[in-house]
Amino acid sequence: DFLTLEQIPVWTSSERPAGDAIYPANEALNRKISLFRGDITKLEIDAIVNAANKTLLGGGGVDGSIHRGAGPLLKQECATLGGCETGQAKITGAYGLPAKYVIHTVGPIVQVSVGDREREGLHNCYHNCLDNAVQNQLRTVAFPCISTGVYGYPPEKAVDVALATVREYLEEHHAQLDRVIFCVFLKSDEDLYLERLPLYFPQG
Ligand code: ADP
Repeated sequence: DFLTLEQIPVWTSSERPAGDAIYPANEALNRKISLFRGDITKLEIDAIVNAANKTLLGGGGVDGSIHRGAGPLLKQECATLGGCETGQAKITGAYGLPAKYVIHTVGPIVQVSVGDREREGLHNCYHNCLDNAVQNQLRTVAFPCISTGVYGYPPEKAVDVALATVREYLEEHHAQLDRVIFCVFLKSDEDLYLERLPLYFPQG
């Protein structure tokens, strides 16, 4: 029950955007984007991103699913990494998962409300995961909705950070990446991405 890259459709914006596009249309970049709703552990691609915690030793949510799917060797490798700071990214093998690698990142925890510090932390997660992938010559990467579960980042704010950071990164590094997949788990997140994607990746 794994999904290969060929089975994950490229995102196409059929709808006119609800507001003014924030970035110019670029069909070549649009072809590098997918919106996929489902379990990130099923993706047979180069790298899946884990929304981990600072210990990197496993937790709940997507982190729990990734560790369950990968098996105990993942935790063994993670234990050698010395943890991870907010916004940073560290790569490991994926063991029992169909992906080749897991890139672990630690999202910001939203205590009261989202400010510059939280926005920058989340931006750094997406940016540093993509940098890590490119440095390791990995061309297909899937992101979960980092920080929007137990870490409390409002999903309707996180989506803009995710989309803006990926768009900006692809402007610079499009030759090194084939596909960035936004892997949403909740219907409400799928709806948010469907609404906001046309603003960041508008149709020509
Ligand atoms: P965080 O601690 O960074 O908030 P969570 O794992 O609690 O991370 O939630 C992040 C997002 O991951 C949420 O949108 C949650 O619905 C989603 N999620 C949970 N399990 C999976 C999974 N197996 N695949 C993809 N996304 C998942």
